[in-house]
Amino acid sequence: AAVPSDAPTIFDKIIKKEIPANIVFEDEKVLAFRDIAPQAPIHIVIIPKVKDGLTGISKAEEKHCEILGYLLYTAKLIAKQEGLEDGFRLVINDGPKGCTTQLSGYLCVQRVTNLPSVDLDFKTIFAGQSVYYIHIHLLGGRQMNWPPG
Ligand code: 5GP
Repeated sequence: AAVPSDAPTIFDKIIKKEIPANIVFEDEKVLAFRDIAPQAPIHIVIIPKVKDGLTGISKAEEKHCEILGYLLYTAKLIAKQEGLEDGFRLVINDGPKGCTTQLSGYLCVQRVTNLPSVDLDFKTIFAGQSVYYIHIHLLGGRQMNWPPG
């Protein structure tokens, strides 16, 4: 993608509390907050507090195994906290073909640049994964479809 792989992202700003987020879970290692463009009644983004080069799952190295496992464990805790006893879905998008919606890419561009959207060709900037900071999506509160599309 055209985004510099290690550039600060909107999630770096959320961790530093430079921009607000609706936080649902926080401990010393992870932060979880409600997605700004929810794709389900419950849609939460779970991120490690330290990026450590993990701009996406495709950048994972053996040293990241512990935090990756902890993120999954945290997802389970949050699912329980949110009352998702009937089931939920975890998603990790990666790279240009691990596509998110155009809308979320569009929101990201607006938030990062503060420029009017009309000036931005966001489809070129965000071909897929829209935030290059590893995150797990926790989705629930409705029936999930397969294949996800
Ligand atoms: P992905 O990179 O996996 O395609 O998606 C990134 C997710 O972050 C999208 O679902 C998008 O809606 C969400 N997102 C982007 N910017 C913000 C923001 O400023 N606040 C919150 N809470 N979520 C955001």
